[in-house]
Amino acid sequence: MVGRIIGYVVAAILIFFGVLYLWSIPAAGPDQLVPRLIVGVISLAIGVVIIWVVRTRGPAPVQQITQQIDLEMPGEISVDKLKCQSCGGELSKDDVSLVQGAVMISCPYCGSTYQITEEPKW
Ligand SMILES: [Zn+2]
Repeated sequence: MVGRIIGYVVAAILIFFGVLYLWSIPAAGPDQLVPRLIVGVISLAIGVVIIWVVRTRGPAPVQQITQQIDLEMPGEISVDKLKCQSCGGELSKDDVSLVQGAVMISCPYCGSTYQITEEPKW
């Protein structure tokens, strides 16, 4: 997640300076045209490539979490039969989330949030 933000920031800086270089070509004179054109276009290209890489390779966090929950749940017991440890209210899949590898329950009825650590007794 932090890597993606850094990627976007670096890409934004590169694109910013690339555009700046291209804009400065008319004012800089003919002898500066080629070097500034090269620097500007390369900066823009690298910035665009970084954004493209971050967008395509960056994992979709929500989908990953759902997949991990599906894998960790015991096959014969459905998530729909989960019950809140505090109030006994029935919990749906939306109330279960994964935070740093731990299964977190947030109950919509009593508002309590707790973590299921080891050997969950559904
Ligand atoms: Zn509850």
